[in-house]
Amino acid sequence: MSPSDGHAELARPAHGRRWRLAVALAMAACCMAAGWGAYAIALQRYVATRAEEAGQRTTFYAQNLRSTLARYESLPRLAALEHVLHVALQARHPPADAALRGAANAYLKQAQSAADLTAIYLLDTTGLTLAASNWDLPSSFVGQNYAFRPYFDEAMREGLGRFYGVGNTTGETGYFLAAPVRESGKPIGAVVVKINLDAFEATLSRSGDTVLLVDRHGVIFLSSVPEWKYRTLGTLSADQRAALDATRQYAPHTLTPLDPQAGGVPFSADQPPQTVKAALPGKSVSTLRVQYRPVDLLGWQVAVLIDPRDEQRTALVAGASAAFAMALIFAVLVALRLRTRRREEQHRARAALREVQRDLEARIAQRTAELTSANTALAGKVEALDAAQRILRETRDSAVQAGKLAVLGQMAAGITHELNQPLTALTTLSDNANQLAERGRIDEVRGNLTHISQLAERMGRIVSHIKAFSRKGDAARAAVSVDEAIRQALMLVETRRRQAGVAVNAPTMPADLSVWANAVRLEQVLVNLIRNAIDATVEVSQPTSATVDVRVDSIENWVRITVRDFGRGIPADVLPRLFEPFFTTKDDGLGLGLGLAISLAIIEDFGGRLVGRNAQDGSGGAEFIIELERVVKPHA
Ligand code: ADP
Repeated sequence: MSPSDGHAELARPAHGRRWRLAVALAMAACCMAAGWGAYAIALQRYVATRAEEAGQRTTFYAQNLRSTLARYESLPRLAALEHVLHVALQARHPPADAALRGAANAYLKQAQSAADLTAIYLLDTTGLTLAASNWDLPSSFVGQNYAFRPYFDEAMREGLGRFYGVGNTTGETGYFLAAPVRESGKPIGAVVVKINLDAFEATLSRSGDTVLLVDRHGVIFLSSVPEWKYRTLGTLSADQRAALDATRQYAPHTLTPLDPQAGGVPFSADQPPQTVKAALPGKSVSTLRVQYRPVDLLGWQVAVLIDPRDEQRTALVAGASAAFAMALIFAVLVALRLRTRRREEQHRARAALREVQRDLEARIAQRTAELTSANTALAGKVEALDAAQRILRETRDSAVQAGKLAVLGQMAAGITHELNQPLTALTTLSDNANQLAERGRIDEVRGNLTHISQLAERMGRIVSHIKAFSRKGDAARAAVSVDEAIRQALMLVETRRRQAGVAVNAPTMPADLSVWANAVRLEQVLVNLIRNAIDATVEVSQPTSATVDVRVDSIENWVRITVRDFGRGIPADVLPRLFEPFFTTKDDGLGLGLGLAISLAIIEDFGGRLVGRNAQDGSGGAEFIIELERVVKPHA
C-alpha cells in the first residue's frame, strides 16, 4: 500500500463522519422546516377558520340583538295611542289631575308587566315624568326630568328615540325607547320604555365566546366578561367624553380603557382597533384579535375577542406532529438504508469469507503437495541413509578386518618367534627322546614326550588364537568373561611387551564377571589399547615407571576397564583427533592410525563407551577407559 493510499484510508472515516453529520443536520433542518411550515400553514388555517366562525357567531349575536330590540320598537308607539295618557298629558286642572295621573300610572303598570318591561313612563313636553309604572316604588320616576336624555329629544323631533345607558334614578342599565304622544299631529309628550338586556347578556356569558357590545365611542356596555363592563376598547377623546357626560349615559362609571397602552388612539366606529391587549379572566395578558359586526343601531357593534394563543397552541401541535412525522419518515429511511448497507456488508463479508476459504483450500492443497514431495524426498533420503549405513557397516567391518590384519602383520615377527621357540624345543626334545630311547631310558623319554605334547598344545593354542583373531567375527553380543578377554589380549601382545621390556599389571578377577560384547572383538580392542600403551611407554627414554596398568572396576551395571600408561601423555593437538581414522603420530609403517577408530566403533557397537584422556592423578601418561554393560546373572 502506498503512503497516499494510507492517507485515503485515514481520511475516509473522518470524511464519512462529516458526511453523516451533514446528513443528520440536513434531516434536522428538514424536520424543523416541516414543523415550521406546518405550524405556519396550520396557524393561517386556524386563524382563518376561527375568524370565519367568530364572524358567523358575531353576525348571529348582532342579528339576535337587533331582532330582540326590534320587537320592542312598536311598544312605545302603541302605548302613545292610549287615551289615558293623552288625558293625563292634557289635564290642566290640578284637583282632577291627580286622578288622571293615577289612571295613567295604573295603565303603565299594567303595560309594564304585560310586556315584561323594566319600566314604562310618560313625559310631558318638558321632559318631566308625569306617570310611571313604578310610581309606587321608592325608585319612582314620577317627578324626574329626563329632558337631558337624547331619547326624549329624538322622540319629540323624529318620532322615535333610542338610547342605552345607566338609569339616572335606579342606577340600572337599560335600553330606552321613546315615542311621542301626538294630539292633532303635534307631540304633547312622550312614552318611554326601558328594557332590561340582562337576559341577552346572560346569553352572551353562556356562549363561551368573549363577546362585547360596544357603542360608537368604544364603551363596552354589555360583556360576557363582567369586569370589562364600562371599560373602553380605545381611548375616549375629549369630545367623546363631553358627549357622554352630557347625556350621563354611563354615569357614575369612569370608563377606563381595557388596554392602557392603546393610549393616544381614540376609538372610531369606522376603524375600531383590530387587536387589544388584555388579560382574559384566569389568563395572562395577551394581544387579542377583535372581530366586529355592526348592530345597525345607535352605532353599536358586537365585538368577539379571539385569543391567538389557542390557535398557536393548536398550530404548534400540528407543527410538532409534522416535524415528528418527518422525523419518523427519516428514521424509516435511515433504517431501510442501514438494513440495505448491512445486507451489502454481509454479502461482502460472505464473499470475502468464500475467498479466504478458497485461498485456504488452495494453500492446503499446495502444502499437502509440498509435504507429499517432502515425504517422498525424506523416504528417498532415509533409503539413502540406510544404504549409507549399510555401506558404512560393511566398510567398518572391512576396516576392522583390515585393522586386525595390520595388527597381525605387526605381530608377525612375534608370532614367528612364539612358534619358533617351541618348535626348536620340540626338535631338541624329540632328538633327545630318540637318544634316550636308544639308551633304554624310557622314563625320561616319557617325560620328554609329555613336554612335547605340552608344547604342541601351546602352539595349537597360539595358532587357534591367531586364527580366531584374524577371522571375520560376527558382531552378535554375548556374555564375555572380562578376565578371559584380558588374558587372551595379554597373550597376544606378550612378544611385543617382552621386546619393549615393559611390565603389564593386570589384576586377577572373578571369572564370572562378564560383559555384553564379542570375545574376539573385545580382545582386539584390548590388544590395541595395551599395544598403544606399550608404544607410549617406550617412546619415553627414561620412563618414571615402565609399567602399563590394567584396572577393572564394576560400577552398578557397568564394568570399566582402564588401560593406563606412564608415557608422555596425549598432546593437546592430538586429543581431539584420537579416534580419527588414519590419524597417527607414529613413524611411517609403525602406525596405521586405525586402532582407536576401529576400537571405538567396536565398543559403540556393544552399546558401550570408549574414552581416551590424560591421566587425572598428575603422574603423567594417558588412560583409555572402556565401559561395557555388565551381564547380571539371575540369582540361583
Ligand atoms: P596407531 O597406533 O597406528 O598410530 P591408533 O589409532 O592406535 O593408531 O592411535 C592413534 C594415535 O593416538 C597414535 O599415533 C598416538 O599419537 C596416539 N595414542 C594412542 N595411544 C596413546 C597413548 N597411550 N599415549 C599417547 N598417545 C597415544
